[in-house]
Formats: sequence, C-alpha cells, structure tokens
Amino acid sequence: MPDCCSCSDVFQYETNKVTRIQSMNYGTLKWFFHVIVFSYVSFALVSDKLYQRKESVISSVHTKVKGIAEVKEEIVENGVKRLVHHVFDTADYTFPLQGNSFFVMTNFLKTEGQEQRLCPEYPTRRTLCSSDRGCKKGWMDPQSKGIQTGRCVVFKGNQKTCEVSAWCPIEAMEEAPRPALLNSAENFTVLIKNNIDFPGHNYTTRNILPGLNITCTFHKTRNPQCPIFRLGDIFRETGDNFSDVAIQGGIMGIEIYWDCNLDRWFHHCRPKYSFRRLDDKTTNVSLYPGYNFRYAKYYKENNVEKRTLIKVFGIRFDILVFGTTLKYVSFVDESHIRMVNQQLLGRRLQDVKGQEVPRPPVDFTDLSKLPLALHDPPPTPGQPEEMQLLREEVTPRPRDSPVWCQCGSCLPSQLPESHRCLEELCCRKKPGACITTSELFRKLVLSRHILQFLLLYQDPLLALDMDSTNSQLRHCAYRCYTTWRFGSQDMADFAILPSCCRWRIRREFPKSQGQYSGFKSPY
Ligand code: GDP
Ligand code: ZN
Ligand code: ZN
Repeated sequence: MPDCCSCSDVFQYETNKVTRIQSMNYGTLKWFFHVIVFSYVSFALVSDKLYQRKESVISSVHTKVKGIAEVKEEIVENGVKRLVHHVFDTADYTFPLQGNSFFVMTNFLKTEGQEQRLCPEYPTRRTLCSSDRGCKKGWMDPQSKGIQTGRCVVFKGNQKTCEVSAWCPIEAMEEAPRPALLNSAENFTVLIKNNIDFPGHNYTTRNILPGLNITCTFHKTRNPQCPIFRLGDIFRETGDNFSDVAIQGGIMGIEIYWDCNLDRWFHHCRPKYSFRRLDDKTTNVSLYPGYNFRYAKYYKENNVEKRTLIKVFGIRFDILVFGTTLKYVSFVDESHIRMVNQQLLGRRLQDVKGQEVPRPPVDFTDLSKLPLALHDPPPTPGQPEEMQLLREEVTPRPRDSPVWCQCGSCLPSQLPESHRCLEELCCRKKPGACITTSELFRKLVLSRHILQFLLLYQDPLLALDMDSTNSQLRHCAYRCYTTWRFGSQDMADFAILPSCCRWRIRREFPKSQGQYSGFKSPY
C-alpha cells in the first residue's frame, strides 16, 4: 500500500535549482525572446490606443433602401393550399430600427387569423400530455405561448397537448422556408448618407458631395466613392453567400472609415467603405443562429380583435463610422510641411518629428486675386498703432520666451496641462527671426483692412458690431495665416499655429473677457 499521506510528504517545500550557463547562443536566444515579448506588449498598448482614438468623430447616418421583390406565398384556405404572388416594396420589407442600423426582411413565417381564446399548445416535448394530470391550471413558463387551463386536449390525431388561453391558433414551430422567400432582396440597393464632424477641428463634411452621380452602384475598385450599395455585393465582399444568410438572417456591419490622413496634400478627406459580418455564422441550431424577431399586424373581423403574427428573418445592417485626423505644422526655416500623427501627441509639438510632406506649390496666378489693398497699402492715418507694434517686434524679448521657442516671440500656453503640448510650437526649428516680424505677416494676417474685406467678401451684409468683430477678425486672421502657410484647404483646417503667431494675432484682436479656447482638440 503506497504511503501517500505521510507526515514527511506534507512538510516538504520544492524549489527549482538555478543553473547559470555562460553561453553566447543561449544568451542571444534569451534576449531575443525578451525583445519579442517587449515589442509585443508595446505594440498591443499602442494599437489599443490607436483604436480608441479612431472613434473621435461625431456622425449622423441616414439610409434609404430600394427594390421590389416578388414573393410566392403558400396559403391555406378552407383546407386547400394555394400559391399566391405578392409584390413586396420598401414599406413591406424594411422596419425602423434605432441608431445607425436598418433592417431588410429576407424570409418569414406567418400565422394568420389569431384571436384570444382557448386552444391546445403546439406539440413539443414540453407541451405533450396524456391526461389532465400532465397539465397545471394557471401555469405558464417563459417559453409557453399562453396560460394553461389544466386540461389535456387533442391537438391533431392522437397527439394531445395542454390547453392554454392564448392567441390561437398557436404559432407552429417551423423551420424558416428554403430558399428564402425574399431571396431576390440581394438586388435591393441602399443609399447611405453620412455627415461627419471632427469636434476639435470645426470640420464637417459628408459622403455625398454635390457633384456626385447618384445613379451609380458601389464597387470596391471601380466605384469606391459611390454611396449606393447592392445588398448582394456587400455579402460577396465578405465572402458570404446572400442566399444562405437570407434563410435565417444575420447581421452585417458597414464600416465607413474617414481617411483624413491626407497622405498627399491634394488628397481630400473622403470615406472608405468596408464590410464585416457581425453575427456568428458558425453557431449551431441550439444557439439561435441568424437574426429574427416577431411582429404582429392587428385587425378586427366581425368585431373580434385578430392578428397576423409574423416571424421575420432578415439582415440587420449596422453602420459604423470611424475617423482619424492628422495635424500639420510648418516652420519658416524648412521648405516642407510636417505631418504630425495624432497618436504622437502628448509630447511638445515643437519636438515631434512627424512626417515630411511637400508644401503645395504656389499658384502665382492666385496672388493676383488677393485683395487689392495688398498691392497698394493705403496709408491709414487712423491706425498709427500698427507702426508702433512693428517697431516693438524688431526687438524680441528672449528672456520671456519659453525654452522651446527659437524666435523669441512665443508665449506659454494658457490651455490646461493635458492640452498644453499642442500649443508649444514655435515658427522656427532653429534660432532666428520670427515670422511675425515679416512684412507679409503684417499685411496678410494682421491687416484689419484686409480681414474686414475678407469677412465682408464672404458675407456682404455682415454687421461688424464692436463685440463680435474682434473675435471674427481674430478667427479670420488664424485662417489667413494657415491658408498662407499651408496652401491647400484640407491642410489649413488641421494646421496648428505657432505660439508667436497665435499671440501676435490675439494681441491685435483681443478677447474682452475669458480665456481663449484655442484649437479645439477632441483628445
Ligand atoms: P475663442 O475665440 O475664445 O474661441 O479662442 P481662439 O481665439 O483660440 O479661437 C478659437 C477658434 O480658432 C476655433 O475655431 C479654433 O479651431 C481656431 N483655432 C485656434 N487655434 C488654431 C490653430 O492653431 N489652427 C487652426 N487651424 N485653428 C485654430
Ligand atoms: Zn518662437
Ligand atoms: Zn515666431
């Protein structure tokens, strides 16, 4: 007999023996694994963050499904089966859903002429009985269709089930019809309208632009910007067969990814569409595969309330919208623009390396369109302060400027700690003269004359009252700076002003009370 519980076994402690081997090969292998694990953890952390930040976009979605289907329905009238042809239009097969979803019915089971009375349950293992003893008056469970009367009655032939007070006849437990009754729904199309807003950037756009041809059909390569999708094509993209999914129903995700990375400066902020099957196509029968729900149509016949119960199978489409943006910075002592990835922020903007992108070439014919005042600056005797300020600018005060400032004219940010790094940006990468001291800065960005001209050019009847004027002029000056230095409008909207320019503009057009809100960043 083995001695398994002796005292000496209980009071034992095991430990591993460590052997240190001086080996080039094992040493390298050890560090190799350390590096892999470390890289993976870092990667997981970073990619997790990227994912969260993708959702920083506010969006509204509106859909319209179109298409007609002919359905052959088998109906039983006075015990005689008959085939009828029904035409289904949008109102018949779509149902209103909450949120960014829409539903298209692809299959159904109908139980017609139900009314409130007593009748036998549909026979299942749970409801079959042989005598009244098998039933219980007042009993109901979540799966039953009514309240038991306590009697065991004939359902059909020699099959007996418990009698219930319910909507009768009780819905049969049937399999969904094969092929799906609305199989032709694969030819239906859906038009998706999506408006988006990047909250921190004051930037709004939509997927359907004015010039877009609305008679198109989306195709991944041939027509990737078309907002009209054929349902069958969506399923083909995910490798699913529409006819198969149509039988039991399913959930399909339509992802709209707003690629506002503006990889190339001429690239617009445009959506990319992709699809993803969201329900689990491998679930077996016991786990309720597919997507279905019941709904009823009520009516009165001979003053008796009746209903048609429909078990609807279909496809729920969920529209998911994502977006990312980049920020742009420009230094006077560099010929290119730097594109800064959102994720890298958290560090002082001045020190973030970013990616170099070419500055959009200047179209010199555009210069002739500049306000007339610019070509021939009018002497404005009413504004002697402009001259004074300029003289002041020539002598920067390096002792006041923060460490990261290379031009001597930057000021510390007013923003809360977490957002401060966004405004820690100078007009230069290396020490030298500040862009705010240039003649063009004064003419293009600070001239009240030109800013007023531009504001009135946009809105000729604009009332330039005292209070709002300064903030309008200030915001207009920000825009003048960004369009001047970044050229393309796509970039200008996401361009960050250097601190010196920001504060020079604010000094010229100050806010009478409260803090400046700055570049509104969603993060
Ligand atoms: P406010 O007038 O008190 O709201 O504060 P600001 O003078 O900072 O102006 C805020 C407006 O200017 C917002 O619409 C900002 O998006 C815009 N703005 C502020 N800073 C920047 C910037 O660095 N770049 C860009 N493109 N816009 C900015
Ligand atoms: Zn500076
Ligand atoms: Zn500067």
